Amino acid sequence: MPNVKQIIDLIEGGVDKKEEELLTKAYNFAEKAHEGQKRLSGEPYFYHVFETAKNLAKLGMDTQTIAAGLMHDVLEDTATPEEEMRKEFGDDILFLVKGVTKLGTLKYRGHERHVESLRKFFVAMANDLRVVIIKFADRLHNLRTLEFVREDKRRRIALESLEVYAPLANRLSMGKLKGEIEDAAFPYVYPKEYKEIEDIIKEKKELYEKYLNEVREELKKQLKKNKIKVVEINYRIKHKYSLYKKLLKHDMDIEKIYDIVALRVVVDTVEDCYRVLGLVHGIWNPLPGKIKDYIAVPKPNGYRSLHTTIFTGLGGIAEIQIRTKEMHAEAAYGVAAHFAYKEQGEKKLKDDKSKFKWIEELKDLNYSPDDPKKFIDHLKTDFFNDRIFIFTPKGDVIDMPEDSTPLDFAYAIHSDIGDHTAGAKINGKMMQIFSKLKNGDIVEIITNKNSNPSNKWLEYAKTALAKKHIKAYLEKHSLLSKLKSFGRS
Ligand code: MN
Repeated sequence: MPNVKQIIDLIEGGVDKKEEELLTKAYNFAEKAHEGQKRLSGEPYFYHVFETAKNLAKLGMDTQTIAAGLMHDVLEDTATPEEEMRKEFGDDILFLVKGVTKLGTLKYRGHERHVESLRKFFVAMANDLRVVIIKFADRLHNLRTLEFVREDKRRRIALESLEVYAPLANRLSMGKLKGEIEDAAFPYVYPKEYKEIEDIIKEKKELYEKYLNEVREELKKQLKKNKIKVVEINYRIKHKYSLYKKLLKHDMDIEKIYDIVALRVVVDTVEDCYRVLGLVHGIWNPLPGKIKDYIAVPKPNGYRSLHTTIFTGLGGIAEIQIRTKEMHAEAAYGVAAHFAYKEQGEKKLKDDKSKFKWIEELKDLNYSPDDPKKFIDHLKTDFFNDRIFIFTPKGDVIDMPEDSTPLDFAYAIHSDIGDHTAGAKINGKMMQIFSKLKNGDIVEIITNKNSNPSNKWLEYAKTALAKKHIKAYLEKHSLLSKLKSFGRS
């Protein structure tokens, strides 16, 4: 039987008296509101909101958010008036519950409807990320009880989770949640492929674990000898869906994938991370091209860690990931990690707002209801795709979609620079303005006041932002020349 204690036990660091009271009150309030309602599984409806609250507690969310999670379906699915919730729980919690209710159920009813739902999502994100995180926790439980849902609906919900929810969780650096959502949805969208991946993992896991065990024992000895304090050293097994996606990239060749199982070394400081990397390379030979310094250059979603792949001898290959405790928590919980630090809550929240400036930008994305396809295309190219980091010569970083060109970069800096782009230096070398940029490139834009956009530029540009400016210029320009010729005649 559910019990409020089960939620409290999941909260790291425990709760004080006031927090316990709040959770108990929300628990009782929701239980009473949903009394008599049942899920498709035949279980009491309350179980669903209870599990949602547990998911939130596991993500390290604050008690207000967990309380709102308990009550997230009260306004939508019961007769309880809004005023009653306000009176009992105050404006903040009501705001969260109303936010989740407003998001409604995302449904694939043709593109248009889908796009509108996405927009609601972004707006909610920009207003309060906690609303979206409650929605994630809600979705995760719905995915885990999907077997009770009608088959056509089942596939739709699972597909939508893969295409909308998981990428969003990834952009918020919530790696653990992203992995869980994907793995819960995977078998319903690609049943055959899911089975294949399960078999591969079963077959390969043992061998890799054997390699890593040897590596771990040797490394432990060396770390001790060199007096490097280790917080944690263990394996992680790759999430199934993420392994599937990686296999697709490598023509389904399992021999090219070395991180089905990876060794994770968690230490205290950044300095120690590099010392561990040095030690590792001193013992085993690294695979060329597989050493990744995501501490100096984090992934666009903020992920930090050192990665290396080594030859363990006797034909073995193993991936090792080295990071601090803080990086470890951030990689798993992303933005949610910040809610755990209660005392800094206010300040952290503000930091997050500037860190997630791209959400604000999304809200402003030109959207016309008669052309939802275009909006989806923007999302696909500018948002859901992987991002790369491009540097200005001064070292400022611009976060851009993969396959961007110097022209896109110019417009990302300023429309004036974009409109007068004459050439580009990539890593000090003159290159075409339509060359493809790679993560970490340093790009210098050369401008000339006589250089202006042409129709060709529309093909060179990849981002919606650059295209928008080029079109605006071309339209204005053609209008001006028409006016001129009109004046002459
Ligand atoms: Mn729900």
